[in-house]
Amino acid sequence: MASSSTSRGSWSGEYGSRRSPIPYRIGPLDYEPPVLCHCGRKAALWISWSDDHPGRRYLKCYRAREGGCCLLRWYDGPCDPFVRTLLVDLRDAVWALKSERTQLRSALADALMKLEQQKKETADALMQLEQNNREALALQVEKVQKPEKGMRLLLCLSVVVAVVVFFMRLG
Ligand SMILES: [Zn+2]
Repeated sequence: MASSSTSRGSWSGEYGSRRSPIPYRIGPLDYEPPVLCHCGRKAALWISWSDDHPGRRYLKCYRAREGGCCLLRWYDGPCDPFVRTLLVDLRDAVWALKSERTQLRSALADALMKLEQQKKETADALMQLEQNNREALALQVEKVQKPEKGMRLLLCLSVVVAVVVFFMRLG
């Protein structure tokens, strides 16, 4: 463990502001041996992902936000400049890919929702079309059947007329 002598000033705003690009292999309180903070509890061991100190671990009071103590110091020594640049580039690449994945998932969810809506609209339109077809067919059947009724009526009338004429002739 390389305890750091870095001054407090270099910490400002560099921790907790952006999430870690990778999950922690060891939880912030699962490291050994424990380092106690001023309030007597085990201090948390976090990883910095700032531009100046990527991948550098630091100790901080676990309850700093809930009225804990002011413990805040480096756990590791400073990074090699080449490794620092490499880690910043890798961090940025991971952040960019995660952001892109989030956007793509959102676009996919939107597209799926639109597809479902279109499927529903198509099914509705198809049902309406079938209903229209049924009605049109029924109308045509009715039209075809009507003349038959007319013919039957004409036939009945002809029989009546023929009978009347027959009886008139007899009379
Ligand atoms: Zn504390």
